[in-house]
Order: sequence, then C-alpha cells, then structure tokens
Amino acid sequence: MLEVKCSSVTPEVVLKASGHVEKFTDLMVKDEKTGTCFWADHLLKDFCKEKLEKDLSLPVEKLYARPETAQGIFVNFLKLYNYKGNKLPFAAAQIGQAFRNEISPRQGLLRVREFTLAEIEHFVDPEDKSHPKFADVANLEFLMFPREEQISGQQANKFCLGEAVSKGIVSNETLGYFLGRVYLFLTRLGIDKERLRFRQHLANEMAHYAADCWDAEIECSYGWIECVGIADRSAFDLRAHAAMDEKEAMEMKAVLETKGELEFHVCTLGKAVSIKSNMVSISKVIKKEHQRVFTPSVIEPSFGIGRIIYCLFEHSFHTRPSKASDEQLNVFRFPPLVAPIKCTVFPLVQNPKYEEVAKKISKSLTAGGIFCETDSTGSSIGKKYARADEIGMPFAITVDSVDSVTIRERDSRDQIRVKVEDVRKVVKKLISGRHTWPELQRRYPA
Ligand code: AMP
Repeated sequence: MLEVKCSSVTPEVVLKASGHVEKFTDLMVKDEKTGTCFWADHLLKDFCKEKLEKDLSLPVEKLYARPETAQGIFVNFLKLYNYKGNKLPFAAAQIGQAFRNEISPRQGLLRVREFTLAEIEHFVDPEDKSHPKFADVANLEFLMFPREEQISGQQANKFCLGEAVSKGIVSNETLGYFLGRVYLFLTRLGIDKERLRFRQHLANEMAHYAADCWDAEIECSYGWIECVGIADRSAFDLRAHAAMDEKEAMEMKAVLETKGELEFHVCTLGKAVSIKSNMVSISKVIKKEHQRVFTPSVIEPSFGIGRIIYCLFEHSFHTRPSKASDEQLNVFRFPPLVAPIKCTVFPLVQNPKYEEVAKKISKSLTAGGIFCETDSTGSSIGKKYARADEIGMPFAITVDSVDSVTIRERDSRDQIRVKVEDVRKVVKKLISGRHTWPELQRRYPA
C-alpha cells in the first residue's frame, strides 16, 4: 500500500467528471420576515465575527481553541505530580493541535492557523534548576545568538553550552540541558548545524510568563524560521501571592477592619480590584512548618512539527551530478534513522533463485521492524538505484548470488558485500545510527 496525501485543491474538470459541480449546491437561507436571502455559511461567519468584535462579555461556555498544548498539562499538574511520587523535577509531554489567530496564514506549513505542536513541560524547584544530565551536553558547541549580540548588531557565534550556562548567558542548567537536547535532536534529524541557531528573546519579545526564552531557528529559503521555542516559564501568575510580605498583610488587615474595603493591585491583571472584608481573613499565627510552600518553575521546549519537517526537507534536498556529470539527480539525503523507507531490495537479474533470496531478505527485514521495499520493476539497475536515491532511501540491497548480496549506500554510492544471513544485522547497525557507513566498510569487503 502506498500512503498518499493528495492536494486539497482540485481542478474543476475533475469535479465536473465526478458530478460534484452539478449535484452539490451551497445552502441558502431566507429571512421569512424580510425575504432577504443569505448564503448559510456567510451568515454564520458574519454572526460570529460580529459577536467576537462587539460582545466582549462572552458567556463562560465560549471556549477558546487552545493556542498551545501546555495548559492541559498545567491544569492536571496535581495529578501528574502525584503520579510522580510528589517529587520534583518531573516532566509531562503532549502532542496535539494548536490554534492561532494568524492574520495572514502563508508559506505553506510555516504559518498556519492550525498546526501540530509537541510540548514538554519540565517542572523544577525554582531554587534548584541544576540538571543531573547537564554534563552530557555541556561540551556541545553550536551557534547561539544572545540578547547582547543582537542589540549591538553582531552575528550569531559558536558558544560552548557549558560556558554559556556558567557565564549566565543561558539562565540555568535545566534550560541549557534542553537547548543541548534540542540541538542534538534537530541535527540527528538531518538539520544542517550551520543553518541552525539558538536566538535569545529580547526583553520586549518575551511572553509575560517567561523568565528567559530561546528559539531554535532554522535557516531556509524563507529566511530564519523559529521552529522550537525553549522557555523558562517561571515568571507566572501565582507569584503575585508570594509577593505580599507580613508588613503589607498587616496593613491590609488594618484597612479592611477600619474601612471594610480596599483597592488591591493585581499585577497579572494590570489593574486594581476591590476587596471587601468578608472576602479575606488575615491573622497572625505561629505554626511549625513541615513543608516548604512554593510555585514550581517550568521549562518548556515547544516543537512546531510542520516547520521542522519543512526545514528538514529543504536541508536534505540535494542536486547531485551523475558520475559522468552529464545528468543531475535530485536526492533527499535523509539520515538512515529518519528516512521513511530504509532500503530497497532487488535481484540483479531476473532469476528465480535470486528473486527467492530477495523475498527472504525483505521478509526478514520487515520482521525485524525495518521498513523496506522490493523493487520488482523491469528497469535497469541504474534506474532502480536512482529511484531509491531520489526518495531518500539510504541503502539498496542487490541480490547477485544465492549466498551473498551487495549493500550500496546512497551518498557515497559505495558498496559492501555481506552474507545473506548477516544482512538484517548489518542494516540494523546502519539505521540505528550506532555504526557509520565507513565503519562497516572497514569490516566488510568492497
Ligand atoms: P510559540 O509558542 O509561539 O513559541 O510557538 C511554538 C512553536 O509552534 C514555534 O516554535 C513554531 O514552530 C510553531 N508555530 C507557532 N505558530 C505557528 C504557526 N502559525 N504555524 C505553524 N507553526 C507555528
């Protein structure tokens, strides 16, 4: 079976042939009092638009379509915290649709009103944002574009992650750990590390909840695009509570007792609200504390799947001259780990014995969870290789004897000879990313 995703725009001739143009009509509705006719969909659209623009006191049942998946995790915080044994740090993750009120959706997958978002919410103690695995990523070096460099008109530079954290350019280890992991994730997918930079948000760019934020930006034909946002969302709402000290509380108590009411400024609302004495009770008590009460910080890597995939296609796309330089072939150089189809298997010549071996290999690969295909077209071997290269299959297996085969690698176009019974083991090594092609070239004959 071939999974396809066809265009969502269809030429009219096709829909005429299918009868849709004739048979389907748009619904029209009529106002019985005035006799005015409306397109049903336009009427609904205008009604909603008017409501949203004019009526700011929408009833509570009006739900927002979620702009990110994060809140679902936040509102379930207590349950998740309990599942994890009431201990920090812990993390939750979610993949789902997010909706944005984009004014002008454009550039294909890059700016849309509905897109797939994958988010991690990693909750940490605000007083201890160290990360036990930071050492694993501390030596990574990659392009970073801190706030200062942007303001003074410089370029992004290569920084060592460990140094960036120790110098305070990245505000804490956990945030740094996720910058490192996002870098590894994107480059292992096949994103070019020279066209990937981590740009720090300027102070006026940061969301109200963010204490520090870095965007993994990837350069593509549309310029530098934000593909992953990594934010320390520590500056959020509940802090307003902790901000009141004993002196302030006692002053508030005195005002409430004398006047029965006071104006209280809520920073997250940006305005004052009126508080009456029956709404709060303030008293001074002495108690033994067995708990520390605090609001956890949360570090959030947020991956825009469509944007990453788009950039991956651009970065993997390569125009390759033929060996004789007389032709060009468009090739997707997906890393083996990422390539949707790992290899193609075919007999060198039409020979029932070779065909039998090809079938056996393909069956064994499929059973081992390796997605491969058998090329049974009658085309020449060169055409078969070219076809596999074009769609980014990293390996091609050619059966040219009953006990051994050749495995050819897409980018070098070199081949090794492997015994039939070892094929699965070798292909597994190659696609796991744990063994490189040159390593296997040293181990197996050319
Ligand atoms: P944000 O919460 O704005 O940082 O968005 C998180 C991620 O969602 C970004 O890094 C983008 O990859 C992706 N994203 C945001 N807005 C859109 C959009 N309109 N269309 C596609 N992807 C988007």
